[in-house]
Amino acid sequence: MAVIITEDCISCNACEAECPNNAIYGAGETYNYGGEEKDTLNDEHTYIVPEKCTECVGFYDEPQCIAACPTEAIIQDENNQETQEELMAKKEKLDEIGR
Ligand code: SF4
Ligand code: SF4
Repeated sequence: MAVIITEDCISCNACEAECPNNAIYGAGETYNYGGEEKDTLNDEHTYIVPEKCTECVGFYDEPQCIAACPTEAIIQDENNQETQEELMAKKEKLDEIGR
Protein backbone atom coordinates (compact mmCIF):
# COMPACT_ATOMS: atom_id res chain seq x y z
CA MET A 1 0.00 0.00 0.00
CA ALA A 2 2.71 2.52 0.81
CA VAL A 3 1.39 5.38 2.93
CA ILE A 4 -2.00 6.03 4.51
CA ILE A 5 -3.84 8.98 6.06
CA THR A 6 -5.02 8.67 9.64
CA GLU A 7 -7.86 10.29 11.59
CA ASP A 8 -5.47 13.12 12.51
CA CYS A 9 -6.16 14.56 9.04
CA ILE A 10 -7.87 17.98 9.08
CA SER A 11 -8.65 17.80 5.33
CA CYS A 12 -6.54 20.84 4.47
CA ASN A 13 -5.57 19.16 1.17
CA ALA A 14 -1.98 20.47 1.32
CA CYS A 15 -0.77 16.98 0.45
CA GLU A 16 -2.96 16.61 -2.62
CA ALA A 17 -1.02 19.14 -4.69
CA GLU A 18 2.30 17.48 -3.87
CA CYS A 19 1.48 13.99 -5.15
CA PRO A 20 3.15 13.12 -8.48
CA ASN A 21 0.82 10.17 -8.96
CA ASN A 22 -2.50 11.94 -8.46
CA ALA A 23 -3.11 9.42 -5.66
CA ILE A 24 -4.69 11.78 -3.11
CA TYR A 25 -8.35 12.82 -3.09
CA GLY A 26 -10.64 14.79 -0.81
CA ALA A 27 -13.24 13.20 1.47
CA GLY A 28 -16.16 11.85 -0.51
CA GLU A 29 -14.54 12.52 -3.89
CA THR A 30 -14.44 9.86 -6.57
CA TYR A 31 -10.99 8.96 -7.90
CA ASN A 32 -9.54 8.18 -11.30
CA TYR A 33 -7.80 4.90 -12.05
CA GLY A 34 -6.77 4.14 -15.60
CA GLY A 35 -9.37 6.54 -16.93
CA GLU A 36 -12.19 4.99 -14.87
CA GLU A 37 -14.08 6.88 -12.19
CA LYS A 38 -14.11 4.92 -8.92
CA ASP A 39 -16.14 5.36 -5.74
CA THR A 40 -14.55 7.28 -2.89
CA LEU A 41 -12.53 5.31 -0.34
CA ASN A 42 -13.25 7.66 2.54
CA ASP A 43 -16.12 9.99 3.43
CA GLU A 44 -14.50 11.40 6.58
CA HIS A 45 -11.16 12.84 5.48
CA THR A 46 -8.67 13.13 2.61
CA TYR A 47 -7.49 9.71 1.43
CA ILE A 48 -4.79 7.98 -0.59
CA VAL A 49 -5.55 5.39 -3.28
CA PRO A 50 -3.25 2.44 -2.52
CA GLU A 51 -3.02 1.33 -6.16
CA LYS A 52 -1.68 4.76 -7.12
CA CYS A 53 0.77 5.51 -4.29
CA THR A 54 4.38 4.56 -5.03
CA GLU A 55 5.79 6.25 -1.90
CA CYS A 56 6.98 8.73 -4.57
CA VAL A 57 9.37 6.09 -5.98
CA GLY A 58 10.22 7.08 -9.54
CA PHE A 59 9.91 10.80 -8.72
CA TYR A 60 11.43 11.74 -5.37
CA ASP A 61 13.61 10.26 -2.63
CA GLU A 62 10.98 10.82 0.06
CA PRO A 63 7.17 10.77 0.18
CA GLN A 64 6.23 14.35 -0.62
CA CYS A 65 2.87 14.23 1.11
CA ILE A 66 4.35 13.38 4.50
CA ALA A 67 6.52 16.50 4.44
CA ALA A 68 3.55 18.64 3.41
CA CYS A 69 1.20 17.52 6.19
CA PRO A 70 0.82 19.96 9.12
CA THR A 71 -0.70 17.37 11.47
CA GLU A 72 1.59 14.38 10.80
CA ALA A 73 -1.47 12.46 9.66
CA ILE A 74 0.32 10.52 6.90
CA ILE A 75 2.18 7.40 7.96
CA GLN A 76 3.69 4.25 6.50
CA ASP A 77 1.25 1.34 6.43
CA GLU A 78 3.20 -1.27 8.37
CA ASN A 79 0.66 -3.93 7.43
CA ASN A 80 1.18 -3.52 3.71
CA GLN A 81 4.85 -3.13 2.86
CA GLU A 82 6.10 -3.09 -0.73
CA THR A 83 9.62 -3.44 -2.12
CA GLN A 84 11.30 -0.76 -4.22
CA GLU A 85 10.83 -3.04 -7.24
CA GLU A 86 7.11 -3.41 -6.58
CA LEU A 87 6.71 0.33 -6.15
CA MET A 88 8.60 1.03 -9.37
CA ALA A 89 6.46 -1.51 -11.22
CA LYS A 90 3.38 0.33 -9.93
CA LYS A 91 4.82 3.63 -11.18
CA GLU A 92 5.47 2.14 -14.62
CA LYS A 93 1.94 0.78 -14.79
CA LEU A 94 0.60 4.26 -14.05
CA ASP A 95 2.86 5.58 -16.83
CA GLU A 96 0.94 3.28 -19.18
CA ILE A 97 -2.65 3.64 -17.97
CA GLY A 98 -2.50 7.26 -16.85
CA ARG A 99 -2.89 9.00 -13.53
S1 SF4 B 1 3.86 9.03 -0.93
FE1 SF4 B 1 4.05 10.17 -2.86
S2 SF4 B 1 2.90 8.91 -4.33
FE2 SF4 B 1 2.21 8.28 -2.28
S3 SF4 B 1 0.45 9.56 -1.83
FE3 SF4 B 1 2.24 10.57 -0.97
S4 SF4 B 1 2.87 12.04 -2.53
FE4 SF4 B 1 1.52 10.53 -3.54
S1 SF4 C 1 -1.85 17.53 4.42
FE1 SF4 C 1 -2.33 16.20 6.18
S2 SF4 C 1 -4.05 17.24 7.22
FE2 SF4 C 1 -3.88 18.11 5.14
S3 SF4 C 1 -5.30 16.85 3.89
FE3 SF4 C 1 -3.26 15.91 3.71
S4 SF4 C 1 -3.24 14.33 5.32
FE4 SF4 C 1 -4.92 15.71 5.79
